[in-house]
Amino acid sequence: MVPFNRAPFTGDEFVYIREAIEANKISGDGRFTKLCNKILEDRFKAQKAMLTTSGTSALDMAALLCGFKEGDEVILPSYTFSSTATAMVLGKAKLVFVDIRPDTMNIDEKKIERAITPKTKAIVCMHYAGVACEMDTIMDIAKRHGLKVIEDAAQAVMSTYKGRALGTIGDIGCYSFHETKNYSMGEGGAILINDPEYNERAEILREKGTNRSKFFRGQVDKYTWVDFGDSYLPSDINAAYLYAQLMHADEINADRMETYNKYLEVFKPLEKKGRIELQHIPDGCVHNAHMFYIKLNDLADRSKFIEYMRDSGINTVFHYVPLHSAPAGLKFGRFDGEDEYTTKESERLVRLPLYYNISAEDKQYVIDCALKYFLA
Ligand SMILES: *Cc1c(COP(=O)(O)O)cnc(C)c1O
Repeated sequence: MVPFNRAPFTGDEFVYIREAIEANKISGDGRFTKLCNKILEDRFKAQKAMLTTSGTSALDMAALLCGFKEGDEVILPSYTFSSTATAMVLGKAKLVFVDIRPDTMNIDEKKIERAITPKTKAIVCMHYAGVACEMDTIMDIAKRHGLKVIEDAAQAVMSTYKGRALGTIGDIGCYSFHETKNYSMGEGGAILINDPEYNERAEILREKGTNRSKFFRGQVDKYTWVDFGDSYLPSDINAAYLYAQLMHADEINADRMETYNKYLEVFKPLEKKGRIELQHIPDGCVHNAHMFYIKLNDLADRSKFIEYMRDSGINTVFHYVPLHSAPAGLKFGRFDGEDEYTTKESERLVRLPLYYNISAEDKQYVIDCALKYFLA
């Protein structure tokens, strides 16, 4: 059986996890958490980065930092993971879903402005498959209307837009290090704070509402409960796992790109013939090979393909059921304008197995089976 995903693993994770345990420091904000924060800040030129317990909790923090009030609205795509939306609901915002562009499956920047009302407070953009949203346009809209921009960059660690790391362009960026993402710590994530105004509040929010971070830096002589907060700091054991991954980030990225490019070379001719459609990478965007997807003719074609691959021992998957049509989407939001592409395109898309260290044989087997389906 060729699985859809395997958790990335380099071998060094054991070394660092052992170190964390031997240092008798397995709770949060230990040595490995600090090392990871620093790598994220240096490598991606982030003003401030902090590991969190998940990508979802980074989004929760982002929503809470924005300080929405009852009735405030946020604009987001409907084609995204539930976390993007549910975090905004936690932050008390009402959801306004906007259609996607069929070429990248990202929020259609041309449909954002008409969804803005006097209650709109933020735009949440999700960089699907690690390919950037049209950030210049989105940042310009946000600036003209006085809106915050939150980047759900859960899939986009190592991707860039016009040379800038995704997650560092909006006011706040969120990464995920779940085992299905390019770099992992089992469960975990990071919040990137690009507006320094949020630094202090973010530390307090993450540390149970206390000014403990300030205390550890020696800026206050005792720490106390200062505001509403929660606990968003992961164990240093998880951070040790991530540290190994970040130390091998280029190698992991190169390996994923090799698989991506191999798939691309094989499936490009089928796209030329009009049998399938592939992901479009706009100019100025460098992606991270987070996924390789194919768009088939329609839902029936896709179901047949998934079944054919499954019968051949290959696990291919699709996502997402558009949020505006999900029970919670109906409860917490509305779709602005016409659903021209969200539902139609989401029903055609399927992802092929792509993970760090996929064997050459498995890759070839996926290719052979898929070609058999298409050329039958
Ligand atoms: C994975 C993912 C998340 C959530 O990350 P977790 O670490 O699993 O909480 C959020 N948004 C998107 C787009 C994702 O792909």
